Amino acid sequence: MNPHPADAQSPRQPSQSAQAAQADPAAAPRIGFVSLGCPKALVDSERILSRLRAEGYQTSSSYAGADLVIVNTCGFIDDAVRESLDAIGEALHQNGRVLVTGCLGARSDPQGDNLVRKVHPKVLAVTGPQATEEVLGHVHASLPKPHDPFVDLLPPGGLKLTPRHYAYLKISEGCNQSCSFCIIPGMRGKLVSRPIGEVLDEAQALLRAGVRELLVVSQDTAAYGSDLKYRTGFWQGRPLRTRFAELVRALAALADEHDAWVRLHYIYPYPHVDEVLPLMAQGRILPYLDVPLQHAHAQVLRRMRRPAGGERALERIAAWRQACPQIAIRSTFIAGFPGETDEEFETLLDFVRRAEIDRVGCFAYSPVQGAAANELPGALPDALREARRERFMQVAEQVSVQRLRRRVGQELQVLVDSASRSGAVARSYAEAPEIDGKVLVAAPERASARMRLAQSGGQFLRVRVVGTQGHDLLAQML
Ligand code: SF4
Repeated sequence: MNPHPADAQSPRQPSQSAQAAQADPAAAPRIGFVSLGCPKALVDSERILSRLRAEGYQTSSSYAGADLVIVNTCGFIDDAVRESLDAIGEALHQNGRVLVTGCLGARSDPQGDNLVRKVHPKVLAVTGPQATEEVLGHVHASLPKPHDPFVDLLPPGGLKLTPRHYAYLKISEGCNQSCSFCIIPGMRGKLVSRPIGEVLDEAQALLRAGVRELLVVSQDTAAYGSDLKYRTGFWQGRPLRTRFAELVRALAALADEHDAWVRLHYIYPYPHVDEVLPLMAQGRILPYLDVPLQHAHAQVLRRMRRPAGGERALERIAAWRQACPQIAIRSTFIAGFPGETDEEFETLLDFVRRAEIDRVGCFAYSPVQGAAANELPGALPDALREARRERFMQVAEQVSVQRLRRRVGQELQVLVDSASRSGAVARSYAEAPEIDGKVLVAAPERASARMRLAQSGGQFLRVRVVGTQGHDLLAQML
């Protein structure tokens, strides 16, 4: 360390390096920088200045031209301390908005009070040395950053692989369940929920960029926030608990504001899911729940290490339909799980009929390397697993088509995925992209209506359902 004041920049003027970094853009906030102390302190100054510059801040060579002044101090010998305190005093006098960093910032007086704060109580904040992130945080709090170098070269909603009108919003990573057929917790770890403010920022950016439908996804969406003990976060200065229902309410408010849809995927039937049903009944989020139930027989669910049984799932579904009669329920199941008896499989078929699941997916069980289910006795032959999957899908499709037929005659709002003058492929609240059926909108007779249809890609349309075709609905434009 070289504590000699000769190494320091003059406290009378913000530093040479700041001047060198200065550029023109008039509107950007300007920061004055006084760099004192040894070469290590100088490197700290360079790091802070580089980050500030990358974020779009300009530097000022005069106190008068600066919106804020940072003083990087030295605290090694008495002369250096005196010089640093003088520099802070001068910056306060000349400018008034001062952040202090560096070695002196870490020093206390004999009573244990921070030395800088004691002498200069009006400074905005004080940090110690090597505190680039802390200093940046204090700068952001006092002088909002002009842009973020990590995201501002991107479109507002980020780079998306989905069409422009819908986007997936991932709210957490990992999973706290331990389903015996699944290796996701081993691969991706335990549940880690994203901060609620960050999720809502992303949702808002997507909606502002023109997204019309947000698809909320994770491994276990309704468990959101449980890993954080539902701690209170912040969004736009408002406290908000990191919790599924609070997040969905906030997303509903954003969707109202932007005339957009919110669709929920991978919802396990926890009791607190009921809290979002009123939002569905009011049409503020889509009345659609994607609930991966996997099976209905209690013994199979136990071997799968899944909570809840078929009867409880039936009760939940009945309660949801009572709260929101139009709700569409999607689920996925596994046929031919190790040890699945004829009777257990029949229970599954019976469940799908009774639950009247609207949209169903089914996999024939297939062992995944590393999954606990591989150790279970009673593995079924491949052909039997596949035969059960086919049988299950026949039953599920009958149910699904019956449910679809009830929708003939309904007027619906649909979101158009693709359109031309000869027709459009769209979806209503009951169809998620890629996994469910579609609403096929016929070309209208009038030329002007055909033109309107052709221009409706990525937009909402009102249609009337006139028939069904397999898993799809046939509709006419209103
Ligand atoms: S199947 Fe889903 S809930 Fe079960 S462990 Fe895997 S990710 Fe978690």
